[in-house]
Amino acid sequence: MNDLPSESAAPHRTLCTDCGISRSSEPKRCAAACQFIQPQYASLEKRVHGRARSPERTDELHFGPFIHMHRASLKHPSPGAQWSGITTRMAEILLQNKSVDAVLTMQADPHDRWRPSPILIDKPEDMQKARGMRMGYAPLLSLLEPAKQRGYKRLAVIGIPCQIYALRALEETLGLEKLYVIGTPCSDNTTTENFHQFLKLITPTPQEVTYLEFKANYHVELRFQNGKHQEIPFLQLPLSDLPKDFFPLTCRTCVDYTNVLSDITVGYMGGEGEQWIITRNTTGEELLALLGDEVVLKAPGSAGKRHSAVLGFKKNVELAAGGLPLRKMPNWLRPIVSWIMPRLGPRGLEFARTRVEMKAIESIIHLRREQPSRMKNMLPQHIWSLAKDYDLTPAPEEKATVLGPS
Ligand SMILES: Cc1cc2nc3c(=O)[nH]c(=O)nc-3n(C[C@H](O)[C@H](O)[C@H](O)COP(=O)(O)OP(=O)(O)OC[C@H]3O[C@@H](n4cnc5c(N)ncnc54)[C@H](O)[C@@H]3O)c2cc1C
Ligand code: SF4
Ligand code: SF4
Repeated sequence: MNDLPSESAAPHRTLCTDCGISRSSEPKRCAAACQFIQPQYASLEKRVHGRARSPERTDELHFGPFIHMHRASLKHPSPGAQWSGITTRMAEILLQNKSVDAVLTMQADPHDRWRPSPILIDKPEDMQKARGMRMGYAPLLSLLEPAKQRGYKRLAVIGIPCQIYALRALEETLGLEKLYVIGTPCSDNTTTENFHQFLKLITPTPQEVTYLEFKANYHVELRFQNGKHQEIPFLQLPLSDLPKDFFPLTCRTCVDYTNVLSDITVGYMGGEGEQWIITRNTTGEELLALLGDEVVLKAPGSAGKRHSAVLGFKKNVELAAGGLPLRKMPNWLRPIVSWIMPRLGPRGLEFARTRVEMKAIESIIHLRREQPSRMKNMLPQHIWSLAKDYDLTPAPEEKATVLGPS
């Protein structure tokens, strides 16, 4: 089923990704649930995972609390999946085993393959509807109340970080007997309308694109209806032709790249061409174990050094946020640098650390410029810890009001 509450209840806040809470019967819960109001990462991490980020486990500053990290692929990738389909396969097994009554996730809008549309799935064979990535956000959590009305007490939810934050903030009030949370990382999201503009800029046949991914080898992969593949190096993307507000302020300033409140995060950033799994608690370990020998797990690698890449990124964000032209590379140099980056740039976990630091820096610079009064509430202490090697420290009035791990 997919009976969304009416559009009239759509949100009216400026910093909002329409996670669905404002469309519920108690929209005032946004105040407690919203990642963009006063997120409480440290206390929620402790409640969900049983402990805060450990300073002794240095990667937890970047990726949040975890038990294990893996490179992973399904031996037989699911057709239509974004990568090999680990995310939807775990949910499918939960339904097959009758461990949950339903899975709350996204499918593609029937009129636009790129637009996410929330759905409650209660049959394992319907999980294939959810496979693949859509660009944009849609009110996933608006289906929590319909789920309750249908008597679903054991749920699995698949979501991006801003949706999972609100879910966890309200979890104890939902009356569920069991909740499994499968999260994906998320970054550089924008509205589905803006995404269509981007597609038009990168290919003369945007209507034929069936798949797009920003890969860890510094290329965007496109797949087309006729079976054609194309890889475009990041450096050759026409990013400077995009309007200044192409990425909404929410997605330029959200502070949780790796979905730290999920039981298990399934991404690709640290996977060097495969998927990247982070199990964060015993429920996350249980979810991974469901895959048995369907999944091949390997230790994640790490190579290269991130500091100069992050520093270069910071300079460009400062220029762009100030409305100045970006430092452009001459066209003749682009293919050479595009060749070098996947070979010598940060790779594996170092690539993932690079992106997390870039995201922290971006959040500070854009909020400082556009909504400075929000900084003390929206930026947890760990964001400042990630940015401190790049000469970014909080002014007294910007300091986090709730301290997280440092
Ligand atoms: C907007 C966006 C940005 C992302 N950015 C990164 C990134 O920077 N780094 C990284 O490592 N991973 C990122 N991911 C996650 C990555 O693209 C894959 O979804 C993930 O690795 C799972 O692959 P899979 O083959 O297991 O997924 P599949 O088995 O194909 O399942 C994908 C799941 O994602 C859900 N989904 C798809 N689109 C959306 C959406 N717009 N909103 C909410 N849920 C959705 C589907 O409903 C489905 O349940 C992003 C995902 C999204 C949606
Ligand atoms: S909680 Fe969700 S709906 Fe409410 S303001 Fe935040 S993102 Fe928007
Ligand atoms: S980038 Fe952040 S705010 Fe934007 S959709 Fe993804 S998780 Fe939500």
